[in-house]
Amino acid sequence: MTLPWAACQVDPTRAGPVLVVGAGFGGAVMAERLASVYGIPSLVIDRRPHFGGMAHDRQDEWGNFVHSYGPHYFRTNSDRVKDYLSRFTEWTPCEYRASAMVGDRVFPFPLNLDTFEALTGAPATPELMAETLASWREDFPDPKNSEELVLSQVGRRLYELFYAGYTRKHWGKPASELHPSVCGRIPVKTTRDRRYLVERFQAVPTDGYTALFTRLLDHPLIELRLATELSDVLAREAGPFRHVVYSGALDELYGYALGPLEYRSVRWETTSAPVEFLLPEMQVNYPNDGDYTRRLEFKHALPHRRTLGTTVVTEFPEDWTPGKVPYYAMPTPDARAAYARYRALADAEPSLTVLGRIGSYVNYNMDQVTAQALALSDELGPRLTQGRAA
Ligand SMILES: Cc1cc2nc3c(=O)[nH]c(=O)nc-3n(C[C@H](O)[C@H](O)[C@H](O)COP(=O)(O)OP(=O)(O)OC[C@H]3O[C@@H](n4cnc5c(N)ncnc54)[C@H](O)[C@@H]3O)c2cc1C
Repeated sequence: MTLPWAACQVDPTRAGPVLVVGAGFGGAVMAERLASVYGIPSLVIDRRPHFGGMAHDRQDEWGNFVHSYGPHYFRTNSDRVKDYLSRFTEWTPCEYRASAMVGDRVFPFPLNLDTFEALTGAPATPELMAETLASWREDFPDPKNSEELVLSQVGRRLYELFYAGYTRKHWGKPASELHPSVCGRIPVKTTRDRRYLVERFQAVPTDGYTALFTRLLDHPLIELRLATELSDVLAREAGPFRHVVYSGALDELYGYALGPLEYRSVRWETTSAPVEFLLPEMQVNYPNDGDYTRRLEFKHALPHRRTLGTTVVTEFPEDWTPGKVPYYAMPTPDARAAYARYRALADAEPSLTVLGRIGSYVNYNMDQVTAQALALSDELGPRLTQGRAA
């Protein structure tokens, strides 16, 4: 199985630029590190007309940040990642809050003591909630999938009200076919803590992700070409590139030679209105009704930025077919095994580094992709600066 470039186009012994495919967190952090630390030039390309990848944002007519590919809340436990990205942005602390619309009622979600009281219709204590959940739980000491995991945490009634429908809509598969970690990411609390996320540092870039990327990519050794396909570059440029860093889909890179991988895609619908808020909070989940999973109004994250209008986005999960944007890697054992076959091919290529969320086929968050790019640049930079000729 061959890669789409000719042997003469990638030559690690020459001082050409590194070709970085993708200007999201993976590609941009890698290009910045190679340039700033090792003095290695990069040509960064992206087929999108903008940089930032999935984290790209813009402002609506009232100045509210709107995330082009769904809401992005930055969180991390890694000091290295936080300190590194803090060179390119200031941060505004934010708390990610959500609720779930079940029937005609809105419940706090993830499940906590307030949700429990709203469901039972009576005041409760953490101890009472814990005891009740213990009596509702089903016995799965070693859950094999997300359904078993949730049943072992909260029992069938809560599983069916809050998890089963949402998971099926989001993934196009029942929770019984998905890895336990899919629903295992959602906390269950017996306190009144409303926070969705558990990481130590939770914030958003004060002037947005696009501004962060503008500074990240602003280096004389980085050339950026947007609206540019990998195939365009390979057709036009003889190279040689010193190395290829690739953050796209591996099945696409190999021309689907081993068959397409499984992904989930998304369609977004945007609604803007000249009112302060349209939703009661940042995220409302719709586990049971409609063919959408959630509606999001990001401006709740930045309460100090009062504006006279608002924009809400609604997420409609969709099947993925080649040609559509892959949003999520499918978290099933069969899908991971199919990816592993492509990955073995890529790992055998000394002039190729694969990274990022879709490249790695793991639904990493931004901090995890940043950490991955930092670690890979620590290894790749020294390798590329050794023993090369002009
Ligand atoms: C709906 C949604 C919500 C999310 N919310 C959060 C959140 O709240 N917090 C969080 O931390 N993370 C969140 N994430 C994850 C976050 O988006 C990713 O971790 C991060 O953006 C991944 O960066 P990346 O560089 O790996 O990939 P991407 O951002 O996808 O960048 C890869 C780029 O490569 C380009 N590319 C691919 N193939 C080619 C090619 N052949 N030629 C040219 N260009 C190519 C693509 O156009 C793309 O721009 C969310 C993801 C999704 C889908």
